[in-house]
Amino acid sequence: MRVRVFTVEVEGQKGYDVEVLSPEATVQDYLDGLNRLIEEGGLARLRCAIKLCAGCDRCCAERIPLTSIDVFQLRQAQGIGGNSLYEVLSRCAEVEVESPWVDITLSRDGSGACLFLNKENRHCKIYAHRPLVCQTFICSPATERAKSLRSTVVNTGEDELVRLWLMEGMLTGSLPVNKGGAKDLSLTDWEENPFTGKLNYGQILLKDLCPEKLWSELSLQANCP
Ligand code: SF4
Ligand code: SF4
Repeated sequence: MRVRVFTVEVEGQKGYDVEVLSPEATVQDYLDGLNRLIEEGGLARLRCAIKLCAGCDRCCAERIPLTSIDVFQLRQAQGIGGNSLYEVLSRCAEVEVESPWVDITLSRDGSGACLFLNKENRHCKIYAHRPLVCQTFICSPATERAKSLRSTVVNTGEDELVRLWLMEGMLTGSLPVNKGGAKDLSLTDWEENPFTGKLNYGQILLKDLCPEKLWSELSLQANCP
């Protein structure tokens, strides 16, 4: 095991913490640890009385920012979009721009629920391929380093998606936007990052993503170099 996600008391409730045990730990190791904990169901849930997520949809009407890998996996799993990023986004995402800020999120239906929510049984229709932000959310108390790791991974992945969206815009000469206006955006504001060129979460090392301080907090016990 390269990432340990474990229960710990946070503000008097049963929450969770994350510890990295190896410099080879990947984002997928982190997701595997979280998924194990979700399935065990031993945490205090802040939004509902149940201990497991199955059958609960209380976090499926919120903003779901997407990463470059989420979109690649959705494209593979749903068989949509061919080689065009814009085609995939037009089928399942919204692009909102308030220059220089760009947000690419999963589409919601008229009731505000996620496009991929089965409203009858309240289960996710793409559970195995659900976006990173869904896989990393547990409505339980978390330690500061666990919260920082989550936001670092999600934000870096969304930055790479925005960079790819801008690159396709430069090639095609148009930037499709659902809300706001795509003026004054420059590719130089979105540099390549550890998500660049990666097609799955097992290819990204946590060490490459984390700022030095966060990395040393996460790998405290393991003494990772
Ligand atoms: S994380 Fe979301 S789905 Fe799971 S119990 Fe909490 S609100 Fe429900
Ligand atoms: S992708 Fe699945 S888990 Fe994520 S918000 Fe949509 S229905 Fe919920």
